[in-house]
Amino acid sequence: MSDPQDSAIGVAVLGLGNVGSQVVRIIEESAADLEARIGAPLVVRGIGVRRVGDDRGVAPDLLTDDIEKLVSRDDVDIVVEVMGPVEPARKAILAALEQGKSVVTANKALMAVSAGELAQAAESAHVDLYFEAAVAGAIPVIRPLTQSLAGDTVLRVAGIVNGTTNYILSEMDSTGADYTSALADAGALGYAEADPTADVEGYDAAAKAAILASIAFHTRVTADDVYREGMTKVSAADFASARALGCTIKLLAICERLIDDEGRERVSARVYPALVPLEHPLASVNGAFNAVVVEAEAAGRLMFYGQGAGGAPTASAVLGDLVMAARNRVQGGRGPRESKYAKLPIAPIGFIPTRYYVNMNVADRPGVLSAVAAQFSKREVSIAEVRQEGMVDEEGQRCGARIVVVTHQATDAALSETVAALADLDVVQNINSVLRLEGTTE
Ligand code: NAP
Repeated sequence: MSDPQDSAIGVAVLGLGNVGSQVVRIIEESAADLEARIGAPLVVRGIGVRRVGDDRGVAPDLLTDDIEKLVSRDDVDIVVEVMGPVEPARKAILAALEQGKSVVTANKALMAVSAGELAQAAESAHVDLYFEAAVAGAIPVIRPLTQSLAGDTVLRVAGIVNGTTNYILSEMDSTGADYTSALADAGALGYAEADPTADVEGYDAAAKAAILASIAFHTRVTADDVYREGMTKVSAADFASARALGCTIKLLAICERLIDDEGRERVSARVYPALVPLEHPLASVNGAFNAVVVEAEAAGRLMFYGQGAGGAPTASAVLGDLVMAARNRVQGGRGPRESKYAKLPIAPIGFIPTRYYVNMNVADRPGVLSAVAAQFSKREVSIAEVRQEGMVDEEGQRCGARIVVVTHQATDAALSETVAALADLDVVQNINSVLRLEGTTE
């Protein structure tokens, strides 16, 4: 009788943390189904970790801290990289690809800086490189963009792709909490890391925006090409103003195909907190959930929604890639290669048409509103809405006024110049906040 292990697909799993432990569990628990779907059994040959011990919930002889040796084993066909961060993951993946192993990774930070180098290595070795789990956890978005929409023209991809910041902003919106206490709540519930910088300053979302823009627009976009603003300055007062305007505030990753007056196409990839009208589909994505809205020429608007992080949801996306890579090994052939033929230039942020919300404290005297309005009209920025309210100090004395201006669409350059000019006006005491308004084109 032939040994069933002869036809087995050997898998090395790098990492046994939140995601890796779930990947190994699903491979074990769903072995029979996975074998039927692939046409061969999946066998975990080894698991790469830092701490090798016998209390890790897996057979101790599978564990190794020698990643280089593990990915080089002859009986390993596919390497699943779920250890992060950029290094040593990059080195391990390159070694695996160069030795003809297909690779599945969940590492967004790495894909956002090294996608080109890794894709080239996969190309040279004629193997697969899959990374569905790198963007929005369980939500299928990479495969729909690379395969389902391969015949369409994607115009825009906008999403909430970071669960930590969405949890914090949702809390601020629903409870009136300020940023600091909403962040503390997120930490206590395990939604925020001890050092939340990558999330709250938008680095994580920017890495995902780079990956999405590259795929959607067939152009290599790296994390450095993404314009990024974090959400730490969003205040409870901003939420109150947003509500009054029929909006909420979300940290958005936006990837857009832009056409200038001469018909030249460019790509914009950007991350910032923005006002979103309550009727927009992204406004109702709350808590740690993620969602991505794709607009394509022929398909129109598509929305993908679900769990953007967590061990099991992320492992689901990893397993999907693993099954695809294993099927390709069994049946022959490869998945889609990197598509970068369009080579569109990156649009600077100043070029982007957008709308601003500006909240400022001003002197409470006649003529202030017209002085403020003059700065907008001087730069041909049209005002859509103005709200003014008097402010009182602790003794109940009038101490100035607050003006909130919402603009119509103008270039980001004209809008930011206007804000700089407002800050220089004698009558403006303080610019409290400036946020963009997305989801409308007026
Ligand atoms: P984690 O819980 O911190 O686990 C990391 C694992 O990798 C641990 O088992 C660790 O070994 C191992 N490891 C780290 N550095 C290593 C090294 N130098 N050599 C050998 N092993 C090493 O991380 P995670 O949350 O599972 O995330 C893993 C990857 O998935 C990251 O790239 C992350 O960005 C990505 N991802 C995670 C999520 C999520 O919800 N967690 C979602 C999407 C994508 P020890 O156990 O011995 O320390």
